[in-house]
Amino acid sequence: MNTDWDAIVIGSGLGGLTAAAYLAALGKKTLVLEQHYVAGGNAHVFRRMKKFEFDVGVHYVGDCNPGGTLPTILKGLGVDDRVEWLPLDPDGFDTLHFPGIEFKVPANWDLYRQRLVETFPDDETGIHRFLDILHAVIRESGKVRLPVEPADLPRLMEEAPNFLAWALRPLSQLFDECALGTRVRAVLAAECGDYALPPSKTPVVLHGGVIAGYMKGAYYPKGGGQVIPAALVAALRANGGELRTRARVERITIEDGMVSGVCLEGGETLRAPIVVSNADLKRTMLDMVGPEHLSPATTEKIDSYRMALPIFVVYLGLDIDLRERMPNTNYWCYTSFDLEKLYAEASGGQVPEDNFLFISVGSVKDPETETIAPKGYTSLEIMSLVPAGYAAWSVDEGPARGERYHRNRDYRSTKDELAERLIDEAEKVIPGLREHIVWKEAATPVTHERYTLSTGGTSYGIELATDQFGPNRPSPKTEIPGLYLAGASTVFGHGISGVMRGGILTAGAIVGRDLLGEAHSGTIFGNPAKLGPPPGDPWEASR
Ligand SMILES: Cc1cc2nc3c(=O)[nH]c(=O)nc-3n(C[C@H](O)[C@H](O)[C@H](O)COP(=O)(O)OP(=O)(O)OC[C@H]3O[C@@H](n4cnc5c(N)ncnc54)[C@H](O)[C@@H]3O)c2cc1C
Repeated sequence: MNTDWDAIVIGSGLGGLTAAAYLAALGKKTLVLEQHYVAGGNAHVFRRMKKFEFDVGVHYVGDCNPGGTLPTILKGLGVDDRVEWLPLDPDGFDTLHFPGIEFKVPANWDLYRQRLVETFPDDETGIHRFLDILHAVIRESGKVRLPVEPADLPRLMEEAPNFLAWALRPLSQLFDECALGTRVRAVLAAECGDYALPPSKTPVVLHGGVIAGYMKGAYYPKGGGQVIPAALVAALRANGGELRTRARVERITIEDGMVSGVCLEGGETLRAPIVVSNADLKRTMLDMVGPEHLSPATTEKIDSYRMALPIFVVYLGLDIDLRERMPNTNYWCYTSFDLEKLYAEASGGQVPEDNFLFISVGSVKDPETETIAPKGYTSLEIMSLVPAGYAAWSVDEGPARGERYHRNRDYRSTKDELAERLIDEAEKVIPGLREHIVWKEAATPVTHERYTLSTGGTSYGIELATDQFGPNRPSPKTEIPGLYLAGASTVFGHGISGVMRGGILTAGAIVGRDLLGEAHSGTIFGNPAKLGPPPGDPWEASR
């Protein structure tokens, strides 16, 4: 094994893999170290019973239309043809259920507006005002570079007045400004699980960005989530890079104040002048680097960041086929209109009494890929936001610090009870679901911590609340020369498009180029001729 690299990337989440593939394509000898046995982080899949494949963290993605950010990032590496984006139903990619309301969210601003007004005629004036402002904030965001410099203010007051007025204020204030009623507020914010924040903490521009992305279409990658890491691993390898799985980094080594490489669990050391960490922000800076190498202000700042809430997931294999029996949609199911209450309960360490469900059916989104579920069967996931604290799950130290929790009876019963509760709720939109279950398992935040080593088991990094947004998030470059960050806790945030954008930004920060801009202009980096044929099995190709 070569011990001298130009760049080492810790973690093979999509942020890390994107940075790594671009660095390799730019001629840097790049090594990716992943502690799990397959690459992808939250974008990896797992299989059960030789019948079902389950997605961990790829259920739908926006901005995947031709020329969109993700196809462009993949195209820049010559691997865009390895990920085919299948659209969810444009007439209702999300279906929202509230007491007495079913609302299909279309991928079209005008139709969205029309349906909102039809459903909430008493709120018509407020709905128009809300959507006009939201739309303007997103339109004007292209004219703004953060942080806003005082000298740029006169221009921005002319060109981006709505952005300046609203972008970083909480969504709840915009609801108040538009005098919207309780029920329409809940419907407008129902997809808040995509960023795990209540309206009182959500920056208007974050909500607008997520909705605007999906208004251009919501997509699922044909072949399941693993095709994305597999494409990036192919680009990495084609350009001389390597992926090593089952390789957990314990320390980032610093010599004379500069990064010199990493030390793996077991003691092996590898040298590189550039280290990119796609691992959890707090563990990277406070454990792998250590406060002794950081300024007190940085240590305090990293320590004080709040992590986003984690997700609880139930994975089900069914012996009925939901293809053609249900629309190609995600279900968001609420039993209350009070979103603030459920977030307050989860943040306070309690599983919310009136929690929501998010249901994604992979075999409906991609009906032809039989590895997801063969004909006659269904693979689906039910998700919900839950508290992060170990106390809520009856564990003490967590698996990242070596705690074994599988046989812990309190842990198991908490997990089983919640799984059953979510299945009961899911039956309201998929009647008869329970009697067709042939595979069932659940993942808690503790499970997520075990597989990704994230603080609190979140996949969303540090919370994207108004006070931890934009310039208040870590940039790719750290105060230690040679150490960079990529992934959910950095400026572009979490989600598949957030971390892939962030990953290319990190590679660009290392080489001092606007790589996304260049990719948008049609540049292909590296040597796609060396890619070889697409893999038969993306999972095998990611190991
Ligand atoms: C249930 C669920 C549903 C989701 N649904 C969607 C969705 O529909 N659409 C969407 O856009 N997003 C979704 N997400 C969010 C999205 O998947 C994540 O935000 C994103 O994948 C995170 O990418 P990342 O680059 O931050 O890296 P991560 O995925 O967090 O990966 C980090 C990697 O680093 C590795 N690592 C950590 N520490 C070490 C170490 N010391 N040594 C070596 N390796 C290490 C981990 O094993 C992991 O592989 C979902 C997430 C979850 C959990």
